[in-house]
Amino acid sequence: MEEIISKPQYAELEMYADDIIHCPVCGYPTQSQDGEFNACKHLEFIYIGELDEFIYKKSRFERNTNFLDYEYFQFSDFRDFLQKAEYGNSFLVLEVTYETMACGPVCSTDIYGFDFYSEDDE
Ligand SMILES: [Zn+2]
Repeated sequence: MEEIISKPQYAELEMYADDIIHCPVCGYPTQSQDGEFNACKHLEFIYIGELDEFIYKKSRFERNTNFLDYEYFQFSDFRDFLQKAEYGNSFLVLEVTYETMACGPVCSTDIYGFDFYSEDDE
């Protein structure tokens, strides 16, 4: 019998800088109109590529990933590290590339993690 491997799902999106990501489960925006940050219970983390930093980590996510040395964490490590954190196929990772026009087009990539079966954070 073939073994079914449960692993996080990935989607890549391209968006304009002003577009706001909404939770794919409940539709809750990750940002309010005035740019304030919002988190529903499905949102596990937000990683900002430009800053090389997580701007949001749910406490459960923090526990699951406490093996990780955030200081040396790199963008390209993501897939590896989510599997090590034992996230399965209810986990959706959105890799969002924003295009802005500064002096010519500038791209930056942010990563959003959503867990479809997430419980409320304790
Ligand atoms: Zn949600």
